[in-house]
Amino acid sequence: MERGTHFERFIGGSEEDKEKARKEMEENFNEKSEELSRHELEKTSEDLEVIKKTESTVNEIVDQYEGKTKPFPHERIYLLEPGSVFKITEGKLEGGIQNTLREVVGVEKKKSKLKFAATLAHELFHLKSYKSASIKEAAEEIRPYRSGFSMHERDFDKKAGEEKVYFSMLEEAVVAECTKKFLEKVKEKDETLNKEHEANEKLKEWFCNFNLSKGVPEEKIETIKEELIFIPDAEKKVKEINNQYENEEGRQAYAAGLITRLYKDGKIGILERQQEREKMYELLDELVVKSEGRFKNRNEIFDEFAKANFSGNYLNIARIVESILGKGSFRKIAEDFSKDPEKN
Ligand SMILES: [Zn+2]
Repeated sequence: MERGTHFERFIGGSEEDKEKARKEMEENFNEKSEELSRHELEKTSEDLEVIKKTESTVNEIVDQYEGKTKPFPHERIYLLEPGSVFKITEGKLEGGIQNTLREVVGVEKKKSKLKFAATLAHELFHLKSYKSASIKEAAEEIRPYRSGFSMHERDFDKKAGEEKVYFSMLEEAVVAECTKKFLEKVKEKDETLNKEHEANEKLKEWFCNFNLSKGVPEEKIETIKEELIFIPDAEKKVKEINNQYENEEGRQAYAAGLITRLYKDGKIGILERQQEREKMYELLDELVVKSEGRFKNRNEIFDEFAKANFSGNYLNIARIVESILGKGSFRKIAEDFSKDPEKN
């Protein structure tokens, strides 16, 4: 029988311990999350449709990076009341949440379907990243060992969650970058989401053209354009602006003012995990430059990182990195991209 859990390997303990752990994970996989259930909203048929399409697009990307695209039961995706993730995580996270070991995902209901789909995609990319678990002797305790690029230190003397996680920022960056790719795909595939996307783009275009005409450097505008993705009620706003202003200059000026105001009020969705992505981009660029023509651009080498994240195989990427940056460099990256438990 095909197992439900996405955990593929168990590290440590005897064969018997491994079997026990496997069984426990299997039971977990069929259990409801009490914590998330408390904030759960009933899914409408429209929500279910977005969930279904989102998972299928996520699977296409995971597949492309040699991951396993096992189905994920939609009962394990919780539609949550707005604001509940902030409450559950005591202010650490907003919008979406996933629990690696319990294999559940929670995403808050949003007015913007595009934002909802992107948040869900992000959490699903985490979930569908390669998974293995560490077990303490006699299967007394199970902890995540690998989650995509991340590798948890195996130290059961430390409290769960206090162990060091190597490469953790790299998993986050790969997932965020895949979410960006997801949004690009969605444009072509989903009509409802595409309408919202196009309205966002229109508003951004007005905003950018206005700023260009005021002499703001093009490079700066490009970054803003890439990072801003969700403008609330975009479709409605585009209609209003089109009706209100006869000429493009008027529309641009109005949209620019509006976006600036919304941004200041924190009402605009920006592409997540900027810090992690920037750090990864720096590494990718260094690898491209030092590879002496082997890798032509960021994207080419990113593909190798993404494959390691979804297939779980470090070997190939470690070889590539060390052949370019020298012996010991892969280990150094593990450390550089690790997460301090205190700063979690
Ligand atoms: Zn994340």
